[in-house]
Amino acid sequence: MTAETAPIVAPELEAAGPQERRLTVPVRVGSVVVGGGAPVVVQSMTNTDTADAEATARQVAALARAGSEIVRITVDRDESARAVPEIRERLARMGLDTPLVGDFHYNGHLLLANFPDCAEALAKYRINPGNVGFGNKRDRHFATIVEIAIKHDKPVRIGANWGSLDDDLLTRLMDENAKLARPADARAVTREALVRSALLSAALAEEIGMKREKIILSAKVSAVQDLITVYAELARRADYALHLGLTEAGMGSKGIVASTAAMGVLLQQGIGDTIRVSLTPEPGGDRTREVTVAQEMLQTMGLRTFVPLVAACPGCGRTTSTTFQELAFEVQDYIRTSMPEWKKHYPGVETLNVAVMGCIVNGPGESKHADIGISLPGTGEFPTAPVYIDGKKAMTLRGPTLREDFKKIVDDYVQRRFGVTRAGAAE
Ligand code: SF4
Repeated sequence: MTAETAPIVAPELEAAGPQERRLTVPVRVGSVVVGGGAPVVVQSMTNTDTADAEATARQVAALARAGSEIVRITVDRDESARAVPEIRERLARMGLDTPLVGDFHYNGHLLLANFPDCAEALAKYRINPGNVGFGNKRDRHFATIVEIAIKHDKPVRIGANWGSLDDDLLTRLMDENAKLARPADARAVTREALVRSALLSAALAEEIGMKREKIILSAKVSAVQDLITVYAELARRADYALHLGLTEAGMGSKGIVASTAAMGVLLQQGIGDTIRVSLTPEPGGDRTREVTVAQEMLQTMGLRTFVPLVAACPGCGRTTSTTFQELAFEVQDYIRTSMPEWKKHYPGVETLNVAVMGCIVNGPGESKHADIGISLPGTGEFPTAPVYIDGKKAMTLRGPTLREDFKKIVDDYVQRRFGVTRAGAAE
Protein backbone atom coordinates (compact mmCIF):
# COMPACT_ATOMS: atom_id res chain seq x y z
CA MET A 1 0.00 0.00 0.00
CA THR A 2 1.47 3.36 -0.99
CA ALA A 3 1.54 6.27 1.42
CA GLU A 4 -1.23 7.92 -0.64
CA THR A 5 -3.65 4.98 -0.40
CA ALA A 6 -2.94 4.00 3.22
CA PRO A 7 -5.86 5.02 5.46
CA ILE A 8 -5.11 7.70 8.01
CA VAL A 9 -7.56 6.23 10.52
CA ALA A 10 -7.37 2.62 11.71
CA PRO A 11 -10.65 0.80 10.83
CA GLU A 12 -11.19 -0.04 14.53
CA LEU A 13 -11.22 3.67 15.34
CA GLU A 14 -13.67 4.41 12.56
CA ALA A 15 -16.14 1.85 13.90
CA ALA A 16 -16.42 3.24 17.46
CA GLY A 17 -19.85 2.71 19.04
CA PRO A 18 -22.17 -0.02 20.26
CA GLN A 19 -22.73 -3.10 18.13
CA GLU A 20 -25.88 -3.19 16.08
CA ARG A 21 -28.94 -3.86 18.25
CA ARG A 22 -29.93 -7.49 18.29
CA LEU A 23 -33.34 -7.66 16.65
CA THR A 24 -36.04 -8.98 18.96
CA VAL A 25 -39.78 -9.36 18.56
CA PRO A 26 -41.36 -5.96 19.35
CA VAL A 27 -43.82 -5.82 22.24
CA ARG A 28 -46.28 -2.97 22.76
CA VAL A 29 -46.68 -2.02 26.42
CA GLY A 30 -49.43 0.60 26.49
CA SER A 31 -48.14 3.44 24.34
CA VAL A 32 -44.51 2.24 24.47
CA VAL A 33 -42.77 -0.25 22.16
CA VAL A 34 -40.14 -2.54 23.70
CA GLY A 35 -37.80 -4.40 21.35
CA GLY A 36 -37.81 -4.80 17.60
CA GLY A 37 -35.08 -2.16 17.28
CA ALA A 38 -37.06 0.53 19.16
CA PRO A 39 -34.96 2.82 21.40
CA VAL A 40 -34.03 1.17 24.70
CA VAL A 41 -36.87 1.96 27.12
CA VAL A 42 -36.21 3.27 30.65
CA GLN A 43 -38.38 1.86 33.39
CA SER A 44 -38.55 2.00 37.17
CA MET A 45 -40.51 0.67 40.11
CA THR A 46 -42.33 2.32 42.99
CA ASN A 47 -41.69 1.51 46.65
CA THR A 48 -44.97 2.81 48.04
CA ASP A 49 -47.74 0.57 49.34
CA THR A 50 -49.87 0.20 46.21
CA ALA A 51 -52.98 0.08 48.41
CA ASP A 52 -52.26 3.77 49.09
CA ALA A 53 -53.46 4.98 45.71
CA GLU A 54 -52.68 8.62 46.38
CA ALA A 55 -49.04 8.05 47.43
CA THR A 56 -48.45 5.53 44.65
CA ALA A 57 -49.90 7.79 41.95
CA ARG A 58 -47.72 10.61 43.29
CA GLN A 59 -44.58 8.47 43.08
CA VAL A 60 -45.45 7.10 39.64
CA ALA A 61 -45.91 10.70 38.48
CA ALA A 62 -42.52 11.70 39.92
CA LEU A 63 -40.83 8.75 38.20
CA ALA A 64 -42.62 9.48 34.92
CA ARG A 65 -41.71 13.16 35.05
CA ALA A 66 -38.10 12.19 35.72
CA GLY A 67 -38.24 10.23 32.46
CA SER A 68 -39.43 6.72 33.34
CA GLU A 69 -41.34 5.48 30.30
CA ILE A 70 -42.89 2.50 32.09
CA VAL A 71 -43.47 2.17 35.85
CA ARG A 72 -43.95 -1.09 37.75
CA ILE A 73 -46.01 -1.31 40.91
CA THR A 74 -46.35 -4.14 43.42
CA VAL A 75 -49.71 -5.92 43.39
CA ASP A 76 -49.53 -8.19 46.39
CA ARG A 77 -52.98 -8.33 47.97
CA ASP A 78 -56.64 -7.47 47.46
CA GLU A 79 -56.26 -3.86 48.66
CA SER A 80 -53.43 -3.26 46.16
CA ALA A 81 -55.35 -4.80 43.26
CA ARG A 82 -58.41 -2.72 44.20
CA ALA A 83 -56.29 0.49 44.19
CA VAL A 84 -54.83 0.00 40.69
CA PRO A 85 -57.76 1.49 38.68
CA GLU A 86 -57.80 4.49 41.03
CA ILE A 87 -54.03 4.98 40.50
CA ARG A 88 -54.64 4.89 36.75
CA GLU A 89 -57.41 7.48 37.06
CA ARG A 90 -55.33 9.77 39.26
CA LEU A 91 -52.51 9.64 36.71
CA ALA A 92 -54.94 10.44 33.89
CA ARG A 93 -56.09 13.50 35.84
CA MET A 94 -52.43 14.58 36.00
CA GLY A 95 -52.20 14.16 32.23
CA LEU A 96 -49.98 11.07 32.44
CA ASP A 97 -50.53 7.89 30.43
CA THR A 98 -47.35 6.13 31.61
CA PRO A 99 -47.94 2.38 31.27
CA LEU A 100 -48.25 0.61 34.63
CA VAL A 101 -46.90 -2.89 35.10
CA GLY A 102 -48.25 -5.11 37.87
CA ASP A 103 -45.63 -7.07 39.78
CA PHE A 104 -47.18 -10.36 40.87
CA HIS A 105 -45.82 -13.13 43.07
CA TYR A 106 -47.60 -16.18 44.57
CA ASN A 107 -51.19 -14.95 44.22
CA GLY A 108 -51.20 -13.13 40.85
CA HIS A 109 -53.62 -15.70 39.38
CA LEU A 110 -56.15 -14.94 42.11
CA LEU A 111 -55.74 -11.15 42.12
CA LEU A 112 -56.04 -10.84 38.35
CA ALA A 113 -59.06 -13.16 38.27
CA ASN A 114 -60.83 -11.48 41.20
CA PHE A 115 -60.11 -7.89 40.16
CA PRO A 116 -60.77 -7.58 36.42
CA ASP A 117 -60.61 -3.77 36.61
CA CYS A 118 -57.05 -4.11 37.90
CA ALA A 119 -56.23 -6.55 35.09
CA GLU A 120 -57.59 -4.02 32.60
CA ALA A 121 -55.89 -0.95 34.11
CA LEU A 122 -52.44 -2.53 33.97
CA ALA A 123 -50.47 -2.39 30.71
CA LYS A 124 -48.42 -5.51 31.44
CA TYR A 125 -48.17 -8.26 34.04
CA ARG A 126 -44.88 -9.40 35.48
CA ILE A 127 -44.83 -13.11 36.34
CA ASN A 128 -42.00 -14.75 38.25
CA PRO A 129 -42.02 -18.42 37.18
CA GLY A 130 -40.31 -19.40 40.44
CA ASN A 131 -43.07 -17.83 42.51
CA VAL A 132 -46.36 -18.72 40.84
CA GLY A 133 -47.03 -21.78 42.92
CA PHE A 134 -45.57 -25.12 43.88
CA GLY A 135 -45.69 -28.64 42.45
CA ASN A 136 -48.48 -29.26 39.98
CA LYS A 137 -50.16 -25.97 40.94
CA ARG A 138 -47.34 -24.00 39.32
CA ASP A 139 -48.37 -24.65 35.74
CA ARG A 140 -52.06 -24.11 36.53
CA HIS A 141 -51.45 -20.74 38.20
CA PHE A 142 -49.09 -19.71 35.43
CA ALA A 143 -51.68 -20.72 32.81
CA THR A 144 -54.38 -18.71 34.61
CA ILE A 145 -52.29 -15.52 34.48
CA VAL A 146 -51.42 -16.08 30.83
CA GLU A 147 -55.08 -16.72 29.94
CA ILE A 148 -56.14 -13.52 31.71
CA ALA A 149 -53.41 -11.61 29.85
CA ILE A 150 -54.68 -13.02 26.54
CA LYS A 151 -58.27 -12.11 27.45
CA HIS A 152 -57.30 -8.50 28.24
CA ASP A 153 -54.84 -8.34 25.34
CA LYS A 154 -51.92 -7.52 27.66
CA PRO A 155 -48.27 -8.50 27.35
CA VAL A 156 -46.41 -10.26 30.14
CA ARG A 157 -42.86 -10.16 31.38
CA ILE A 158 -41.67 -13.57 32.38
CA GLY A 159 -39.13 -12.57 34.97
CA ALA A 160 -36.98 -15.36 36.38
CA ASN A 161 -34.87 -14.35 39.35
CA TRP A 162 -31.79 -15.90 40.96
CA GLY A 163 -33.31 -15.36 44.40
CA SER A 164 -36.55 -17.20 43.63
CA LEU A 165 -35.50 -19.76 41.08
CA ASP A 166 -37.83 -22.63 40.21
CA ASP A 167 -36.67 -25.22 42.79
CA ASP A 168 -37.86 -28.29 40.88
CA LEU A 169 -36.02 -27.26 37.75
CA LEU A 170 -32.83 -26.41 39.63
CA THR A 171 -32.89 -29.70 41.55
CA ARG A 172 -33.43 -31.71 38.37
CA LEU A 173 -30.55 -29.99 36.59
CA MET A 174 -28.27 -30.39 39.62
CA ASP A 175 -29.08 -34.14 39.73
CA GLU A 176 -28.47 -34.58 36.00
CA ASN A 177 -25.23 -32.63 36.26
CA ALA A 178 -24.01 -34.72 39.22
CA LYS A 179 -24.33 -37.88 37.13
CA LEU A 180 -22.02 -36.56 34.42
CA ALA A 181 -18.42 -37.74 34.16
CA ARG A 182 -17.29 -34.11 34.26
CA PRO A 183 -19.98 -32.12 36.04
CA ALA A 184 -20.12 -28.35 35.67
CA ASP A 185 -19.79 -26.24 38.80
CA ALA A 186 -22.95 -25.51 40.74
CA ARG A 187 -23.00 -21.81 39.83
CA ALA A 188 -22.95 -22.60 36.11
CA VAL A 189 -25.83 -25.05 36.61
CA THR A 190 -27.78 -22.34 38.42
CA ARG A 191 -27.22 -19.96 35.49
CA GLU A 192 -28.46 -22.65 33.12
CA ALA A 193 -31.53 -23.18 35.32
CA LEU A 194 -32.28 -19.47 35.22
CA VAL A 195 -32.05 -19.29 31.43
CA ARG A 196 -34.17 -22.44 31.05
CA SER A 197 -36.74 -21.25 33.57
CA ALA A 198 -37.34 -18.10 31.50
CA LEU A 199 -37.35 -19.92 28.15
CA LEU A 200 -39.48 -22.89 29.25
CA SER A 201 -42.04 -20.54 30.77
CA ALA A 202 -42.14 -18.48 27.58
CA ALA A 203 -42.63 -21.66 25.54
CA LEU A 204 -45.44 -22.71 27.89
CA ALA A 205 -47.10 -19.29 27.50
CA GLU A 206 -46.95 -19.68 23.73
CA GLU A 207 -48.46 -23.17 23.99
CA ILE A 208 -51.34 -21.70 25.97
CA GLY A 209 -51.94 -19.25 23.12
CA MET A 210 -49.94 -16.13 23.95
CA LYS A 211 -48.32 -14.55 20.94
CA ARG A 212 -44.57 -14.04 20.85
CA GLU A 213 -45.10 -10.29 20.46
CA LYS A 214 -46.70 -10.27 23.90
CA ILE A 215 -43.73 -11.76 25.76
CA ILE A 216 -40.76 -9.99 27.33
CA LEU A 217 -38.14 -12.01 29.17
CA SER A 218 -35.82 -11.24 32.04
CA ALA A 219 -33.46 -13.35 34.14
CA LYS A 220 -32.12 -11.21 36.93
CA VAL A 221 -29.14 -11.96 39.11
CA SER A 222 -27.17 -9.83 41.55
CA ALA A 223 -23.60 -10.44 40.31
CA VAL A 224 -22.24 -8.61 37.30
CA GLN A 225 -20.50 -11.52 35.57
CA ASP A 226 -23.52 -13.80 36.06
CA LEU A 227 -25.83 -11.22 34.52
CA ILE A 228 -23.64 -10.76 31.46
CA THR A 229 -23.36 -14.52 30.90
CA VAL A 230 -27.04 -15.25 31.46
CA TYR A 231 -28.31 -12.51 29.12
CA ALA A 232 -25.78 -13.31 26.41
CA GLU A 233 -27.13 -16.86 26.49
CA LEU A 234 -30.79 -15.78 26.52
CA ALA A 235 -30.09 -13.56 23.50
CA ARG A 236 -28.35 -16.42 21.72
CA ARG A 237 -31.18 -18.91 22.27
CA ALA A 238 -34.27 -16.80 21.52
CA ASP A 239 -35.53 -13.57 20.00
CA TYR A 240 -37.89 -12.47 22.78
CA ALA A 241 -37.60 -8.81 23.80
CA LEU A 242 -35.32 -8.56 26.84
CA HIS A 243 -35.72 -6.56 30.04
CA LEU A 244 -32.27 -5.92 31.54
CA GLY A 245 -31.56 -5.28 35.17
CA LEU A 246 -29.19 -6.29 37.91
CA THR A 247 -31.32 -7.30 40.88
CA GLU A 248 -30.36 -6.16 44.38
CA ALA A 249 -27.71 -3.90 42.86
CA GLY A 250 -27.30 -2.09 46.18
CA MET A 251 -27.08 1.41 47.48
CA GLY A 252 -25.38 4.54 46.21
CA SER A 253 -22.26 4.29 44.09
CA LYS A 254 -22.04 0.50 44.53
CA GLY A 255 -25.47 0.00 42.96
CA ILE A 256 -24.76 2.45 40.17
CA VAL A 257 -21.37 0.99 39.32
CA ALA A 258 -22.56 -2.61 39.39
CA SER A 259 -25.63 -1.85 37.25
CA THR A 260 -23.77 0.19 34.66
CA ALA A 261 -20.87 -2.27 34.48
CA ALA A 262 -23.21 -5.19 33.79
CA MET A 263 -25.75 -3.48 31.58
CA GLY A 264 -23.10 -1.43 29.78
CA VAL A 265 -21.38 -4.58 28.53
CA LEU A 266 -24.67 -6.10 27.33
CA LEU A 267 -25.95 -2.90 25.71
CA GLN A 268 -22.62 -2.53 23.93
CA GLN A 269 -23.22 -6.01 22.50
CA GLY A 270 -26.64 -4.90 21.26
CA ILE A 271 -28.48 -6.88 23.97
CA GLY A 272 -31.36 -5.36 25.95
CA ASP A 273 -34.60 -3.63 24.95
CA THR A 274 -35.65 -2.06 28.25
CA ILE A 275 -33.65 -1.40 31.40
CA ARG A 276 -34.24 -0.82 35.05
CA VAL A 277 -31.56 0.27 37.52
CA SER A 278 -32.53 -1.31 40.85
CA LEU A 279 -31.01 1.15 43.32
CA THR A 280 -31.69 0.92 47.02
CA PRO A 281 -32.57 4.51 47.95
CA GLU A 282 -30.40 6.01 50.67
CA PRO A 283 -32.43 7.07 53.75
CA GLY A 284 -34.43 10.11 52.67
CA GLY A 285 -33.08 9.63 49.14
CA ASP A 286 -35.01 10.29 45.97
CA ARG A 287 -36.59 7.30 44.21
CA THR A 288 -36.23 9.05 40.87
CA ARG A 289 -32.45 8.63 41.03
CA GLU A 290 -32.77 5.20 39.40
CA VAL A 291 -34.36 6.90 36.39
CA THR A 292 -31.61 9.54 36.14
CA VAL A 293 -28.93 6.85 36.32
CA ALA A 294 -30.63 4.74 33.62
CA GLN A 295 -30.93 7.77 31.34
CA GLU A 296 -27.35 8.84 31.91
CA MET A 297 -26.13 5.31 31.23
CA LEU A 298 -27.93 5.21 27.89
CA GLN A 299 -26.91 8.73 26.96
CA THR A 300 -23.23 8.40 27.85
CA MET A 301 -23.13 5.22 25.75
CA GLY A 302 -24.57 7.10 22.79
CA LEU A 303 -27.75 4.97 22.71
CA ARG A 304 -30.29 7.69 23.52
CA THR A 305 -30.39 11.40 24.26
CA PHE A 306 -32.49 12.74 27.12
CA VAL A 307 -30.96 15.85 28.59
CA PRO A 308 -27.96 18.08 27.85
CA LEU A 309 -24.91 16.72 29.64
CA VAL A 310 -22.30 18.82 31.34
CA ALA A 311 -18.73 17.62 30.88
CA ALA A 312 -16.59 18.68 33.80
CA CYS A 313 -12.99 17.88 34.59
CA PRO A 314 -12.40 16.13 37.92
CA GLY A 315 -10.35 19.04 39.26
CA CYS A 316 -6.88 18.62 40.71
CA GLY A 317 -4.17 20.55 42.52
CA ARG A 318 -4.23 23.15 39.75
CA THR A 319 -7.66 24.38 40.79
CA THR A 320 -7.91 24.76 44.53
CA SER A 321 -10.94 27.06 44.64
CA THR A 322 -14.43 25.62 44.86
CA THR A 323 -15.77 27.94 42.13
CA PHE A 324 -15.32 25.35 39.44
CA GLN A 325 -17.12 22.54 41.34
CA GLU A 326 -19.95 24.88 42.28
CA LEU A 327 -20.36 26.14 38.73
CA ALA A 328 -20.36 22.60 37.26
CA PHE A 329 -23.02 21.57 39.80
CA GLU A 330 -25.10 24.70 39.30
CA VAL A 331 -25.06 24.46 35.51
CA GLN A 332 -26.06 20.76 35.56
CA ASP A 333 -28.83 21.55 38.03
CA TYR A 334 -29.98 24.57 36.02
CA ILE A 335 -30.18 22.49 32.84
CA ARG A 336 -32.15 19.71 34.54
CA THR A 337 -34.66 22.07 36.07
CA SER A 338 -35.01 24.04 32.82
CA MET A 339 -35.55 20.94 30.70
CA PRO A 340 -39.33 20.49 31.16
CA GLU A 341 -39.87 24.02 29.74
CA TRP A 342 -37.02 23.85 27.24
CA LYS A 343 -38.36 20.60 25.80
CA LYS A 344 -41.67 22.31 24.99
CA HIS A 345 -40.09 25.24 23.14
CA TYR A 346 -36.69 24.07 21.90
CA PRO A 347 -36.81 20.79 19.99
CA GLY A 348 -33.46 19.00 19.95
CA VAL A 349 -32.18 20.83 23.04
CA GLU A 350 -31.33 17.49 24.65
CA THR A 351 -28.32 17.21 22.30
CA LEU A 352 -26.68 20.31 23.79
CA ASN A 353 -23.15 19.81 25.19
CA VAL A 354 -21.72 22.05 27.87
CA ALA A 355 -18.22 21.87 29.36
CA VAL A 356 -17.10 23.36 32.66
CA MET A 357 -13.34 23.05 33.07
CA GLY A 358 -11.00 23.85 35.93
CA CYS A 359 -7.87 25.34 34.36
CA ILE A 360 -5.91 26.14 31.24
CA VAL A 361 -4.39 22.63 30.82
CA ASN A 362 -7.46 21.00 29.23
CA GLY A 363 -9.97 23.81 29.68
CA PRO A 364 -9.79 25.61 26.33
CA GLY A 365 -9.39 22.35 24.36
CA GLU A 366 -12.33 20.57 25.98
CA SER A 367 -14.45 23.73 25.86
CA LYS A 368 -13.91 23.97 22.10
CA HIS A 369 -15.31 20.43 21.66
CA ALA A 370 -18.53 21.42 23.46
CA ASP A 371 -21.30 23.68 22.14
CA ILE A 372 -20.59 26.01 25.04
CA GLY A 373 -17.57 25.68 27.28
CA ILE A 374 -16.02 27.70 30.04
CA SER A 375 -12.45 27.39 31.21
CA LEU A 376 -12.16 28.67 34.75
CA PRO A 377 -8.91 30.08 36.10
CA GLY A 378 -6.72 27.58 37.96
CA THR A 379 -4.62 28.52 40.97
CA GLY A 380 -2.22 31.31 40.05
CA GLU A 381 -3.90 31.97 36.68
CA PHE A 382 -5.25 35.39 35.77
CA PRO A 383 -8.81 35.50 37.28
CA THR A 384 -10.74 35.45 34.01
CA ALA A 385 -12.77 32.69 32.37
CA PRO A 386 -12.84 32.45 28.57
CA VAL A 387 -16.12 31.14 27.14
CA TYR A 388 -16.16 29.15 23.89
CA ILE A 389 -19.25 28.88 21.72
CA ASP A 390 -19.34 26.44 18.81
CA GLY A 391 -15.58 25.97 19.06
CA LYS A 392 -14.63 29.65 19.04
CA LYS A 393 -13.71 31.95 21.88
CA ALA A 394 -16.73 34.22 22.25
CA MET A 395 -16.11 36.27 25.39
CA THR A 396 -14.36 36.35 28.74
CA LEU A 397 -16.17 36.36 32.07
CA ARG A 398 -14.87 37.65 35.37
CA GLY A 399 -16.06 38.94 38.73
CA PRO A 400 -18.86 38.03 41.16
CA THR A 401 -21.60 37.67 38.52
CA LEU A 402 -19.70 34.98 36.59
CA ARG A 403 -22.12 32.13 37.42
CA GLU A 404 -25.23 34.07 36.52
CA ASP A 405 -23.55 35.43 33.38
CA PHE A 406 -22.64 31.92 32.24
CA LYS A 407 -26.16 30.57 32.80
CA LYS A 408 -27.52 33.50 30.79
CA ILE A 409 -25.11 32.60 27.95
CA VAL A 410 -26.42 29.01 28.04
CA ASP A 411 -30.01 30.29 27.99
CA ASP A 412 -29.37 32.63 25.05
CA TYR A 413 -27.61 29.88 23.12
CA VAL A 414 -30.52 27.47 23.66
CA GLN A 415 -33.01 30.07 22.42
CA ARG A 416 -30.91 31.00 19.43
CA ARG A 417 -30.01 27.48 18.31
CA PHE A 418 -33.09 25.47 19.20
CA GLY A 419 -35.82 28.12 19.14
CA VAL A 420 -38.42 27.79 16.41
CA THR A 421 -40.01 30.79 14.73
CA ARG A 422 -43.79 31.04 14.30
CA ALA A 423 -43.30 29.99 10.71
CA GLY A 424 -41.61 26.83 12.00
CA ALA A 425 -38.12 27.68 10.80
CA ALA A 426 -35.21 27.58 13.23
CA GLU A 427 -34.21 31.06 14.29
S1 SF4 B 1 -8.42 20.83 33.46
FE1 SF4 B 1 -6.93 21.63 34.92
S2 SF4 B 1 -8.01 21.57 36.88
FE2 SF4 B 1 -9.13 20.22 35.51
S3 SF4 B 1 -8.23 18.21 35.94
FE3 SF4 B 1 -7.18 19.06 34.14
S4 SF4 B 1 -5.37 20.05 35.00
FE4 SF4 B 1 -6.77 19.70 36.71
